Amino acid sequence: RAKQRGRGRVEVFDENLDTELAHRAQVQHDLRRAVDSDELVVFYQPIVDTTHSVTLGFEALVRWQHPTRGTVPPDQFIPIAEESGLIVQLGARVLRDACRQAAAWQADLPPGERLRISVNISSVQFAHAAFIATVAATLAETGLDPSNLWLEITETSLPADLDAATAALRELRDLGVHLALDDFGTGYSSLAHLRTFPVEVLKIDRSFVAGLGSNPEDTAIVAMIIDLARTFGHLVIAEGVETQDQVAELNRLGCTLCQGYHLGRPAPAEVAAGHLSARKNGSVNV
Ligand code: C2E
Ligand code: MG
Ligand code: MG
Ligand code: MG
Repeated sequence: RAKQRGRGRVEVFDENLDTELAHRAQVQHDLRRAVDSDELVVFYQPIVDTTHSVTLGFEALVRWQHPTRGTVPPDQFIPIAEESGLIVQLGARVLRDACRQAAAWQADLPPGERLRISVNISSVQFAHAAFIATVAATLAETGLDPSNLWLEITETSLPADLDAATAALRELRDLGVHLALDDFGTGYSSLAHLRTFPVEVLKIDRSFVAGLGSNPEDTAIVAMIIDLARTFGHLVIAEGVETQDQVAELNRLGCTLCQGYHLGRPAPAEVAAGHLSARKNGSVNV
């Protein structure tokens, strides 16, 4: 069996580089098989409006349930999928699953209520010639209202050329979808990007949220991002919110939309659906 032989080789050549290369080749091989199978699963993490305790939407986060290695976190296979180009296929799969799920959830909500779905887009997908056509086709196929789809991009994953990046983002916006800047604050030129990019949402990187209240520098950065969002008329979402104290501090600073373990962990669709029950009972209206 190729897989067993592959793994044996890793043990024999215990040199770092050989091990690393063999590992990558193995992951690529396994991932090629997984990308069209049910080994890849999309988990959903609630994004909560903490003033009303209402789930505004979900972020789609891919999980790989490997037959022998167990659940592999995205940080361990997304970079390898990017290197091999397989991310294009993988990303299209995640986008389709997430849009289909969101459309199904939306159909179950009381009339007039909206549910957002936020999907991470890799720089390699973004740079791919067919990307915009793929998004358009996915929206048509799943029937999802484009304005309920948020595409998460990071500043570092965009083309270095600001004009080219802005033009590509405009084309996406023309489909009616919304754009979110993920991990905001960690990029190298956040402020210049903010001035020209047609984005609607800033997601505060969780490294800053972690120090809220205890670390004055982190607190200052979070406060600044919230003020920037307000100035530019963008929504702002805090990521990695793990405690009620952080929620209180974020609310005090003017940020009500939160995402993190305190509000709900990423979970399979059936479990995540539990966050929507308050809406289905008609007890809230957002
Ligand atoms: P991200 O887009 O910034 O996603 C947020 C990450 O923070 C997720 O990690 C999530 O599980 C984690 N997280 C959420 N709440 C908390 C919290 O309270 N505390 C802590 N410590 N962590 C929290 P995950 O799922 O492991 O994903 C890691 C990264 O992998 C994502 O960061 C994203 O950049 C990438 N990724 C995930 N799914 C996809 C995908 O479908 N496509 C692409 N291109 N990238 C993806
Ligand atoms: Mg994200
Ligand atoms: Mg993030
Ligand atoms: Mg990230």
